[in-house]
Amino acid sequence: MRPQVSYREIVQPDTPISEEHKANVYCLLQKLNAIRFRSEIPMRITSGYRTAQKHRDIYIRKGVAEEKIPWGSYHLIGAAADVYDPNKTLQQWIKSNLDFIDRLDLYFESFVATPTWTHIQLFEPRSGNRFFLP
Ligand SMILES: [Zn+2]
Repeated sequence: MRPQVSYREIVQPDTPISEEHKANVYCLLQKLNAIRFRSEIPMRITSGYRTAQKHRDIYIRKGVAEEKIPWGSYHLIGAAADVYDPNKTLQQWIKSNLDFIDRLDLYFESFVATPTWTHIQLFEPRSGNRFFLP
């Protein structure tokens, strides 16, 4: 089995991060790896912790207008990660293991909105829904 998701996959080297956000990253890592080991699905993180500048760059590059950038994103506090999931292997597993997911208390962007990745976050969105539209 491939190794667990590491801190360095969530926080790039030389990225400034507060202790509070770091604590979120460790909590997220623990839960990601709980899924990783239970599912035996390899995980590649495509986006983890983002500084405000990095977050802005991502959206500007995608052609999103300045005022439409989602500043409430949990990526900004180390509490969200995107897992590469082009074949939806992970999404299928999540849907089949909702009891386990409930116990981990994780939240996901609606799979309809994330065709090639799975967005996983620690905290519930405003809607309170486990699967939410971004
Ligand atoms: Zn995301």
